[in-house]
Amino acid sequence: MQEDTRIRLIGWHPDQMRALPVLEDEPNFRLRQIAAWIYRRGATEFAVMTDLPAALRKELSRRYSLDLLPVARDLRSCDGSTRKLLFSLVDGLAIEAVQMHEPRRDTVCVSTQVGCAYRCRFCATGRMGLKRNLTAHEILSQVLVVRDGRRAAGSPGHFNLVFMGMGEPLANYEAVTAAIRVLGDDYGLGIGRRRITVSTVGLAPQIRRLAGEPFAPRLALSLNATRDQTRSHLMPVNRRYPIREVLAALAEYRARTGQRTTLEYVLLAGINDAPEDARRLSRFARDCDCTVNLIVFNDHRGNALRGSGPASAEAFRGAMLPHAPTVTLRQSKGQDIQAACGQLCIEARPTGSEE
Ligand code: SF4
Repeated sequence: MQEDTRIRLIGWHPDQMRALPVLEDEPNFRLRQIAAWIYRRGATEFAVMTDLPAALRKELSRRYSLDLLPVARDLRSCDGSTRKLLFSLVDGLAIEAVQMHEPRRDTVCVSTQVGCAYRCRFCATGRMGLKRNLTAHEILSQVLVVRDGRRAAGSPGHFNLVFMGMGEPLANYEAVTAAIRVLGDDYGLGIGRRRITVSTVGLAPQIRRLAGEPFAPRLALSLNATRDQTRSHLMPVNRRYPIREVLAALAEYRARTGQRTTLEYVLLAGINDAPEDARRLSRFARDCDCTVNLIVFNDHRGNALRGSGPASAEAFRGAMLPHAPTVTLRQSKGQDIQAACGQLCIEARPTGSEE
């Protein structure tokens, strides 16, 4: 099959499209028309953009593609709460996105890298190592495929978006912020920055940089320990950006952007679930004005770590409640299809091969 060499237009904000051939002399309203067709109406070909001149449509079709990433596999959890999509990339690699059905609105969890360099001990993706960054097109494709699927199923409403899939979003800063701009902006998907959460291991310089962006989203810090020794053991990145420094960056982010910030804390039996941890975590949350999400670790193949039992998790939450602003104990979803937190991992095999 002949390779499609056309430029992928999905991923470009209308303000940036002016840098592209054919579009450089088009007025702003025209670029916004094109963006509305792509991002709002889900156009998959230029021929349907009937408010554009026919000659422009023809030239755009010749030079640009509106293709999304192909879905190689579409898995649903037994309880129907979770859907995991495996996408094929042009270089034979693959990524995953997860759609979680929740009572008030769906949440879509997207990947930002193939694999990850940070090697957190509780995370399956970390075992893959980093293969490469995703492009804005590849990030947006995940969202658009889920959005279009929801529309087809008759659920056109809003959804929340979390950058918590494979990879560290702030290590792929340019593509992730380009994607957020299109996702949140009225000339893009119009999701709104309050519905978008970026989860990070705590890259302090990038947290500060993100705080200066006009479209700064909500931010979640994957903390997981209240002492540097434990955190460095679980998350080697802590040796570079220790707890005190990351919490300072998070507090600054909250103050500068006014956006909600969250501490994510994976509960691990005998490692980070002691009453002293609950006390320290409460103090961190108060000092940084953060909410806290507790998540019981999902046991998975090849990992010796074990999640705290239900009684320990409730006791931990109970110990925090009088002292921390808001604490939730999150129910894990999609464990049967390896779609729960920390379970996303593509095993090395040719893409497109079915189970
Ligand atoms: S938790 Fe996030 S940063 Fe850590 S290894 Fe997994 S994907 Fe990478």
